[in-house]
Amino acid sequence: SEGASHPILNTLNKAQCRAVTSTASTVAILAGPGSGKTHTLTSRVVWLIDQLGIQPCDIIVATFTVKAAREMKERIGRALGDGRERKIILGTFHSIARRYLAKYGKHIGLDSKFGIADDGDSKAVIQRICKRDKLSCDPTGARAWISKKKAKGALPNQGHKKGESVNLQHLQKCYDAYQDHLKTANLLDYDDLLVLGVQLLRTNPHCVSNVQAVLIDEYQDTNGVQYDLMKLLAQERSRITVVGDPDQSIYGWRSAEIRNLYRLLREFPETDEVSLEENYRSSHHILHVSLEVIKQDSSRYKKVLLPIHAKGTRPTLRKLASQPAEAEWVVSEIKRILLTSGNMMSYDDIAILLRSASLSRHLESALGKVGIAYRMVGGFKFYERAEIKTLIDYLRVIYQPDNNDALMRIINVPKRGIGDGTIKSLLEEAETSRTTLWSLLVKHCRGIRRAKTNIRKDAETKLNLQVIRLVESFRESMANSTEENPFTLVDLIDKLLEKIEFKKFLEDTYSEQHEQRWANVEEFMSLASDFLRDLRKEDDEALPDIEGLAQTQDADPLARFLANVSLASDVQKGDTEEKHKSAVTISTIHAAKGLEWPVIFIPAAYNGSIPHSRAEDTDEERRLLFVAMTRAKSLLYLSCPKRSLGDNGSEFELSQFLEPVKSLFAQRGPSFDRQVLKEIGRVLNRAVPTEEELFGDMPLMTSVEDDRFPLDPAEVEKRESYAEDPYDGFHQYERGAMSRAKRQ
Ligand code: ATP
Ligand code: MG
Repeated sequence: SEGASHPILNTLNKAQCRAVTSTASTVAILAGPGSGKTHTLTSRVVWLIDQLGIQPCDIIVATFTVKAAREMKERIGRALGDGRERKIILGTFHSIARRYLAKYGKHIGLDSKFGIADDGDSKAVIQRICKRDKLSCDPTGARAWISKKKAKGALPNQGHKKGESVNLQHLQKCYDAYQDHLKTANLLDYDDLLVLGVQLLRTNPHCVSNVQAVLIDEYQDTNGVQYDLMKLLAQERSRITVVGDPDQSIYGWRSAEIRNLYRLLREFPETDEVSLEENYRSSHHILHVSLEVIKQDSSRYKKVLLPIHAKGTRPTLRKLASQPAEAEWVVSEIKRILLTSGNMMSYDDIAILLRSASLSRHLESALGKVGIAYRMVGGFKFYERAEIKTLIDYLRVIYQPDNNDALMRIINVPKRGIGDGTIKSLLEEAETSRTTLWSLLVKHCRGIRRAKTNIRKDAETKLNLQVIRLVESFRESMANSTEENPFTLVDLIDKLLEKIEFKKFLEDTYSEQHEQRWANVEEFMSLASDFLRDLRKEDDEALPDIEGLAQTQDADPLARFLANVSLASDVQKGDTEEKHKSAVTISTIHAAKGLEWPVIFIPAAYNGSIPHSRAEDTDEERRLLFVAMTRAKSLLYLSCPKRSLGDNGSEFELSQFLEPVKSLFAQRGPSFDRQVLKEIGRVLNRAVPTEEELFGDMPLMTSVEDDRFPLDPAEVEKRESYAEDPYDGFHQYERGAMSRAKRQ
């Protein structure tokens, strides 16, 4: 057919081509890491637009993180070359649902000016409810319980069944009160976005009558509600394409169900199943150890994944004396890689992946000490830094004064002489009279109705001038903003900082760190101005207008910005001004899903960290390690400190997932001789620098001597025999692939 000549097909192998050009109404690709699932999905979008003539605005693409969405849009944009990708409805399930709710929510009685309660907000509310109503549940547990209930579609106020345990009754009460609270403040939490999205589309399917194709990346991590949402977005008519890997399912704790994979195959029996069996990402060695780790799970869904690349260098596994020593080792290896690889590698090529964000401390300080730039991704919560949170809370109150939680947090920041006790009783007063804190205060300050709670006279004046009038005047300025005479988000933040004398507040409050904190504020400013610029450039939030259906115009920039803040859990620190500066990435494993780097470090590979001591599902922890290891293209380093801190810290054992495979690792990083560099260059498709470029007047550094990973003699022998075997004991079917790869 004429379609077969599209240039996008030249970048694909046969199976990928088949998936991209499939005419089936449902296509499912289940394949291992690095097999090109995302590449195939993106190519299919291009195919649908260019070859089948589907309008970009009629295509929905769901990704798992905001970062992945951005990258995918860029990739599609490059292939289309004319900016049409801007119209694609592309984002996380949450952001897609939010857009529909903002535009059509009125059909299900939703006030379109809703705000979003992020995970932190939700937890804080639950904490307060448990305390107030003397409920004996642990807030984190209660949050998870409620979330699970919602994901399963259970509503609150379902009454209490006889014979329920006290614990269950308390959880149910907590759920009811929590939902009540969100309702009063017109807030939706993450789960609501999905649940209400489903409700909206179930009752108003014509909202998506334009949609022609729905594509989902990382399908293994969708939960029941997301599955329903997918079906509703697609209706009967749309083509569905899902890609995923059961081995990389790492969100079971968020109710993601591998079962949804099988559900799809059952409910769409016509599904065209495509498997991709070649790994384009990693060197043979890296793929091999990773597969050896995941194979420990005997119940997994087995599939073939063959290496395309040559062996490369053996991954490194290193045991260090302590956590600081481990961090220093990581830094010394990073330096060595850069020094000895000429221009072939930069800091951008390197990522350090952590099981939990709390492990970053030693690494940050070790990198900081030698002045290596780094950026943090995922779970590090730039938006949750106190000074940033305060600004966001101000913006939330300006957007939505009825947001009790936000108002409560800023009411005395900067200090206005309103104590915690006063705030608490004001809040209770508002709750008992079924009004919001904001209306109570407005009435009080205007003398319409005195609050029962005693507010000191001077505090009252400040409250009136610095909060109520301020918020009202900002709301007015925004409402009066016109194209000729705009009052932008940036103007708003600018004015806000000035009016609440934020810089002075930081100086007074944080004697030592105020400069860093102000730098964060400036970063926030530039995030906001970047956001505005993107908004103008892309207009990516605009859903196509379905005749007569849209009840509200797309939300104003402030609403969009706040939604963006609440949903972008993976914002990068240093995302703006340092964007162009080469820097090492520090990321949680969860946030690194779907991404790849030439060099990966996985420190803290000990029992308690991975598997995590609080994890319920060991297999999921193993998959997490598998995800981390398979991010690497050329070099993979794992390490484990013996103790937390020097001799008297608590002791660590090597991760149980690595113990059985430790003989496959080298004990120290490779010496970057020409041969090694050549192999790295081949995997990365980069030119290897010349001798001169490489060494110039630099003495060749070899790896740093340190206490080695202890091997028992039998293992040493095994290793040595491996060294003589050109295939290093790789499995038979992988040998076939090796020779095939060599032949190419
Ligand atoms: P993950 O499961 O980790 O998300 P994935 O299956 O989505 O992995 P991709 O990220 O799409 O894999 O691809 C991995 C790498 O392989 C990318 O750098 C991609 O450009 C490259 N790649 C994919 N397909 C091909 C191909 N046919 N030829 C050459 N390179 C390819
Ligand atoms: Mg992918």
